[in-house]
Amino acid sequence: TGSGLIVSFGEMLIDFVPTVSGVSLAEAPGFLKAPGGAPANVAIAVARLGGKAAFVGKLGDDEFGHMLAGILKENGVVADGITFDQGARTALAFVTLRADGEREFMFYRNPSADMLLKPEELNLELIRSAKVFHYGSISLIVEPCRSAHLKAMEVAKDAGCLLSYDPNLRLPLWPSAEEARKQILSIWEKADLIKVSDVELEFLTGSDKIDDESAMSLWHPNLKLLLVTLGEHGSRYYTKNFHGSVDAFHVNTVDTTGAGDSFVGSLLAKIVDDQSILEDEARLRSVLTYSNACGAITTTKKGAIPALPKDEDVLALIRG
Ligand code: ADP
Repeated sequence: TGSGLIVSFGEMLIDFVPTVSGVSLAEAPGFLKAPGGAPANVAIAVARLGGKAAFVGKLGDDEFGHMLAGILKENGVVADGITFDQGARTALAFVTLRADGEREFMFYRNPSADMLLKPEELNLELIRSAKVFHYGSISLIVEPCRSAHLKAMEVAKDAGCLLSYDPNLRLPLWPSAEEARKQILSIWEKADLIKVSDVELEFLTGSDKIDDESAMSLWHPNLKLLLVTLGEHGSRYYTKNFHGSVDAFHVNTVDTTGAGDSFVGSLLAKIVDDQSILEDEARLRSVLTYSNACGAITTTKKGAIPALPKDEDVLALIRG
């Protein structure tokens, strides 16, 4: 695990999950509080593996915001990039798996503090000191966090950071599917490394095929690595010179929340000090084996953050 700084930009929120499963939100007798937000999960994934990570985003100056900042710090994530909004409250999501297997979401975003991060509130010094800048989820959707997102990307790029993008499509939060596709693709060519899920690949290409041809249709000339995650089928990788796939580990899956964040965070932690790995297929495959193991372990416990592994857990799974 490398020592260079990985900055993860975006939102952090609390998922309220009913204490019993199979009921609607209205019928839930109570809720468990699960901290989440893809960019925050990535920062904690890196730190838990022994890497250096910072989170840049905005929280409400309320009980939940201070709880989330505390969770980042307890996990060893640098918190100098967090700002607190004096007016708006921390984002909340109510998530339940209904008896029919459908996930039901309700959001407190009205607007929530994460969406109110302004470009002038960014800790530019922190961003400039990073080796890798990771981003992608809801911050592209609305102003002013959209402008903050674009500015942070630009500053990171100018400072020579590797830009890592995980679109983390949250379709219900976009005004329309068309707008989501357009906006995601509008920042596509800025990234050096992109990770998409199989579902996102289908959405972005508009094709229901998940094969090399559809993945390569998303290729752009500045890209160093394109990753497609396939859940229990592992992951695929594409570079200018080679492509292939790496099998998943067999584990007892309980909850897949955070698997993709664990996967991408671990990959960034492994390449931050030596980006030549991206050009060497054998070394890249060994990193992806490690990242697949991280993703697999993350599915074995409820919630994202509690399930993110330590290096020793990953090595134990790989050794078998
Ligand atoms: P995303 O959040 O991007 O959809 P995935 O659910 O595909 O991410 O998970 C990321 C990685 O975690 C996968 O590429 C795989 O290696 C691992 N993983 C996810 N789900 C499972 C599972 N059920 N069994 C084993 N490994 C898994």
